[in-house]
Amino acid sequence: MMQEFDLFIIGAGSGGVRCARIAAQHGARVAVAERRHWGGTCVNLGCVPKKLMVYAADTGRLIDDAPGYGWDVTRSPHHWARFMEAKDQEITRLNGIYVSMLEKAGVTLFTGDARLCDAETIEIGPSTLAPDAPVQRVKAKKIVLATGSVPVKLDIPGAEFAITSDEVFHLAQRPERIAVIGSGYIGVEFAGIFSGLGSKVDLVYRQSLPLRGFDHEVREHLSEGIDLYDITRHAGCSPTKIEKNADGLCLTLDNGQTLEVDAVLMATGRRPSVDKLGLDAAGVRTEKGRVVVDAQSATNVASIYAIGDITDQYNLTPTAIAEGHLLAERLYAPQGREWSFETTPKAVFFASPVATVGMTEEEAAREHDITVYTTRFTAMRQVLPKRSGKIFMKLVIDQKSDVVLGAHMVGPDAPEIIQMLAIAVSARLTKKQIDRTISLHPTSAEEFVTMRTPTRHVRRGMSGPLSKN
Ligand code: NDP
Repeated sequence: MMQEFDLFIIGAGSGGVRCARIAAQHGARVAVAERRHWGGTCVNLGCVPKKLMVYAADTGRLIDDAPGYGWDVTRSPHHWARFMEAKDQEITRLNGIYVSMLEKAGVTLFTGDARLCDAETIEIGPSTLAPDAPVQRVKAKKIVLATGSVPVKLDIPGAEFAITSDEVFHLAQRPERIAVIGSGYIGVEFAGIFSGLGSKVDLVYRQSLPLRGFDHEVREHLSEGIDLYDITRHAGCSPTKIEKNADGLCLTLDNGQTLEVDAVLMATGRRPSVDKLGLDAAGVRTEKGRVVVDAQSATNVASIYAIGDITDQYNLTPTAIAEGHLLAERLYAPQGREWSFETTPKAVFFASPVATVGMTEEEAAREHDITVYTTRFTAMRQVLPKRSGKIFMKLVIDQKSDVVLGAHMVGPDAPEIIQMLAIAVSARLTKKQIDRTISLHPTSAEEFVTMRTPTRHVRRGMSGPLSKN
């Protein structure tokens, strides 16, 4: 007799776990299969260990600043192995929490590699986490694909010598010299991490500014900020080959320059994790490597759904969680919650972090006549240690309705501040309503409620900062 479930979820990452838990709470018989890490990328090879590394790097910078506040301390070399052990302990603790959370919800767990045999049958076999797992087949009325994404390496000679974000969390020692390729989230964040820990960092990217897709002025401000953290930027460049030599690795760029380094981190994007998932066997439609879903997370096969990075839509932990939660409620509960996906806040945890919610100036100016408010100032805590670098803040307002379309910040605590401002942007508050708020003094965040003089007005169809008036 084959075991049967109401819902079978492939992948115990952020989205899959939430979907499983909510469905089980509403009485569904739920099972989850995980092949590698309980908690998925976010907990094991992403947000959580990355943030711990950001804190480690920031702590080094705080030590640098300490003499400015009268503390007689100097940096010692960072103990990579000790930190990694502490980080791994925390990740193991979180893995356990994920497993117990699912078990308490009454979810059946399968450790192994799961694949679709048809639209209602799943086969689970051995995987890296469970090499001796027996091959089992189970039936489910509904199946959710939540396998996330995997890093992509550039196809250049010597790419096998490069690491990705999958390996960077388990390096035996910190590279003294590292080249980071790509200036998206991972590239910028790890450039900041390794420079903070004391490595010499080269950041190589093909655009003229980092963080393509972010607000243009934010990108300009970040670019200037990167220079303040001893990171060498190689803008407008792509790598052509990596060679191993007696001293480490030699990275050649398309401008002819060579970089001698100990490690090359390729942070060049991710692709949906669909390999060996049996999508063809079940007839699930894909497009450019992603599983195609409608607004209800439904695929073209009536019994199969997909959430999170496998659908290549938002590619963030909180949106995968929201998708999983909504799907479970849609399937097993009378009414669901609402989420404002279009105002999903985003952060890049650089040394001077970037955070943003809503439209960039360029996006807003395509649809609206807008008024832009900006401010640049030195954070108070930087004054005594004489640390250079300014905070940048920006509000983008629709002239007709006065609604705040976008809020952007580069500087200390930007992610914490923008998370709160995201409430205002999601609620479509107006600038007038923001301005009613009394400042909390002395903070950096108060500047968002005290910006009174417009920096510029931009007519619809004009291209943002390129049309300053
Ligand atoms: P991103 O898509 O953010 O950035 C990829 C980078 O690689 C870009 O600079 C891109 O350049 C460059 N690149 C891509 N192809 C090539 C090529 N052929 N030659 C040269 N450069 C190339 O991907 P990441 O790997 O940084 O991150 C993956 C995803 O993980 C993100 O999209 C995000 O969803 C998620 N993430 C989120 C985080 C957060 O929320 N803080 C943190 C880390 C990851 P170009 O811009 O020119 O295309």
